Amino acid sequence: LRVVIIGNSAAGLSAAETVRRLDSSVAVTVVTDEPYPAYLRCLLAEVLAGEKEMAGIRLRPSHFYQKNRIDIVNTAAIAIDPENKRVKLSDGRKIHSDRLVIATGASPMSLGIEGENLDGIFTFRTYNQALEASKVVNRTASAVVVGGGAVGLKAAWTLHKKGVKVTIVEKSPQILIRQLDEEIAAIIKKEISKTEITVVVNACPASFKGTGRLSAVVLDNGDELPAELAIIAVGTTPNINLVKEAGGKTGKGIRVNEHLQTSVNDTYAAGDCIEIKDIVSGEPAVSALWPLAVEQGRCAAYNLMGHRRRYPLPLTNMTAFRFGGIPFISAGIRTGDTCLVRSDDTAYGAHRKLFFKDDKLVGYILIGAGALNGAGVYTDILKRKLPVGKLKPKLLEGNISAADLMKLI
Ligand SMILES: Cc1cc2nc3c(=O)[nH]c(=O)nc-3n(C[C@H](O)[C@H](O)[C@H](O)COP(=O)(O)OP(=O)(O)OC[C@H]3O[C@@H](n4cnc5c(N)ncnc54)[C@H](O)[C@@H]3O)c2cc1C
Repeated sequence: LRVVIIGNSAAGLSAAETVRRLDSSVAVTVVTDEPYPAYLRCLLAEVLAGEKEMAGIRLRPSHFYQKNRIDIVNTAAIAIDPENKRVKLSDGRKIHSDRLVIATGASPMSLGIEGENLDGIFTFRTYNQALEASKVVNRTASAVVVGGGAVGLKAAWTLHKKGVKVTIVEKSPQILIRQLDEEIAAIIKKEISKTEITVVVNACPASFKGTGRLSAVVLDNGDELPAELAIIAVGTTPNINLVKEAGGKTGKGIRVNEHLQTSVNDTYAAGDCIEIKDIVSGEPAVSALWPLAVEQGRCAAYNLMGHRRRYPLPLTNMTAFRFGGIPFISAGIRTGDTCLVRSDDTAYGAHRKLFFKDDKLVGYILIGAGALNGAGVYTDILKRKLPVGKLKPKLLEGNISAADLMKLI
């Protein structure tokens, strides 16, 4: 039996390790279009800062693949042919695959505007992109980060720490629109305004200017921002094409059943490339979270090896983040019928915002060091969909005890 896994990151690596753990004799091949061993993508900001190289972010020691008899093929897969049990590679080779895991993740979106190919403009998804951008940082006085989401803010903070004057350009009326409501986003924006970072909302780049190399970003409101470096962090698109072109079902991501099996024979999928129903919203979602990709890779591997495991609906929207001195955690949705707020205005304030629908917690935002301690309990209540009833005030104070929790379960 040969298992082929396409993608060698959170989902692919955990699938490969799980297959090997379950069966020492099955042949495992991992196909990756990156020329590197698996690495922690979440640490790319440190690569951008020039503080880490591959050795500091790789996930497993160099002997790992050989020791576990996992063949690595550093070539892109361009087609899958599950009927004939083959994967076609970009160099013309075809490899035999009895069972497949698609763990192809997501690719960064581009803007599709004039000048986007100039030197000094980067997306921020791979080690190579972060490394190349880091080489420009030292000769950069001003940079533009396009996108005020979590990845954009990480890049902006990193550049700021390196002494670069940064402007974040965000097309929505607020930053962190996936994570925060307007009020809490304004608190973070105020904190940002104390630094050299400028935030421009309700604006998009219209073009990039320069001769060979970037010199300025022109916005759709006519403003021109001088910049030698631009990081585009406007979101990602799941890599669904291998399954789509093989006739498999896809939506925003690759559609999978509760065993993470795609609609294509003997083919499973895991990680940022899949679409899965969110436990809170009930809507199909693409998660973009490292721990979920790891869990899904493991679960897909169990299923393809014949150990039936149901993948429980995940909480796809959860972010823990620190911008400067302000940490926050948010999860779930913000469209409940009730929103309870508790603000403690000392220091940066510890704000708790809890969103309820029909007596159930559906989302929360906790901001400020003093508010974060309840996150584990909130997440548990959210995932279990427990009716919280009279415990709402205690929940809001953040002092719900294990005994209180037991009463709910
Ligand atoms: C800068 C940054 C910071 C982040 N920070 C966090 C964080 O703090 N917390 C968190 O939970 N998440 C974070 N994430 C998101 C997290 O990295 C992803 O959720 C995670 O990497 C998804 O893993 P994956 O295995 O599904 O896909 P990916 O990590 O995208 O890996 C997919 C791999 O498959 C390869 N591939 C694609 N197509 C093919 C093909 N046809 N043939 C061969 N190989 C192919 C890709 O090149 C890639 O190497 C961050 C992401 C970025 C970019």
